[in-house]
Amino acid sequence: MAKYTGSVCRLCRREGTKLYLKGDRCYSDKCGFTRRPSAPGQHGQRRKKASEYGIQLREKQKARRIYGVLEKQFGRYYLQAERAKGITGENLLQLLERRLDNIVYRLGFASSRAQARQFVLHGHITVNGKRVNIPSFITDVGDVVAVSDKAASNVEHFKALREGTNKVVVPWLQVDYEKLEGTVSALPAREDIDVPIQEHLIVELYSR
Ligand code: SF4
Repeated sequence: MAKYTGSVCRLCRREGTKLYLKGDRCYSDKCGFTRRPSAPGQHGQRRKKASEYGIQLREKQKARRIYGVLEKQFGRYYLQAERAKGITGENLLQLLERRLDNIVYRLGFASSRAQARQFVLHGHITVNGKRVNIPSFITDVGDVVAVSDKAASNVEHFKALREGTNKVVVPWLQVDYEKLEGTVSALPAREDIDVPIQEHLIVELYSR
């Protein structure tokens, strides 16, 4: 499967906003976007007036990059969101938020979605007691997402989490850091999703 292997800070510069792809580094002075906010490339400093299509496309790319989803899969999420009841844009964001790697990140078990994805791929995460190593696994209300016993006792990162963290978790999830487990208590409402995405632009793009 195709995978982006370049600099992720370059993606923030391309989108013209911080996408918070690198965990703690994003909040420090070392942030690539803070140091050099212009678009990447030789002509990055030139200002270009974007077309309507260009604006819509950038919004879709931004969403894909924030959640670490490839083009094809993103298109599938869109179709699913369109078929579901309710507002397509909100359904789309809800689906992205329900991905297992995002839940692990939102619970504070990982400092970025990329790290969360690694934890899932390495088999460190269970859902309702069963190991799930698929980052795109879609969780549902009532699902219990936890760090496996083996990882909780062997992986330094998780041991440190157990000893205390000041992470604030989104209102639709509940977390117990002592047990290293969290529950999806509700589906996220739009106001609970704090990503800088104007989903209506994505809907407009796919409706062309
Ligand atoms: Fe983006 Fe984080 Fe890199 Fe800053 S450090 S440019 S927010 S990925």
